[in-house]
Amino acid sequence: MKLILLGAPGAGKGTQADILCKELDIPTISTGNILRAAIKNGTPTGMKAKAYMDAGKLVPDDVIIGIITERVAEEDCANGYILDGVPRTIAQAEAMEKAGIVFDAVVSIEISDETIMERMSGRRVCESCGASYHLVAVPPKQEGICDKCGGKLVQRKDDAPETVKARLEVYHKETEPLKAFYAQRGLLKSVENQPSVAETSQAILHALGR
Ligand code: AMP
Repeated sequence: MKLILLGAPGAGKGTQADILCKELDIPTISTGNILRAAIKNGTPTGMKAKAYMDAGKLVPDDVIIGIITERVAEEDCANGYILDGVPRTIAQAEAMEKAGIVFDAVVSIEISDETIMERMSGRRVCESCGASYHLVAVPPKQEGICDKCGGKLVQRKDDAPETVKARLEVYHKETEPLKAFYAQRGLLKSVENQPSVAETSQAILHALGR
């Protein structure tokens, strides 16, 4: 199963990808997590990406395309993968098609901007492994500590309200057109955000015929 999770920042793509990758036994590839790790490690890619990310802007397509083509060629991706947060532009989607990277389904998580603005203030991520939590919806077992690796949970710099607004604008302008792109290819499945994480997972699995 080769799957794309589409949706606005804060729609729950990372949380759902965590659940679905266990359910479907395939890895998740999150360009956001890969870029944050690159920044932390001070790599050339990270240095290039940082200013864009801090401002809530998209990192240039060529950087992203390089990351993805390398990552999907790795051994653990042989049986499929879930892309979280990529593609984010038509140019990225076209580049993937050109590189022969094809998909079985594209799930778009639908949620209002208002709900996202409310939700983002509670999001926390692990600074070591990138796992995503929410103070109310997905709390860690121990406050401030990652369940998976024991790392410290922090608020992302780009989750500040004014940056979230900028990211939502970018989403509507650059990423939302991907829904029509994949609908034309018969791949798009739209799933409404549900009151709980588990219900949204169920709705996604149902849309995938599972
Ligand atoms: P995310 O964790 O998916 O919300 O991504 C955080 C930030 O990383 C975004 O606001 C962008 O600056 C950058 N980023 C992640 N994925 C992409 C992508 N596919 N294309 C461009 N920029 C990206």
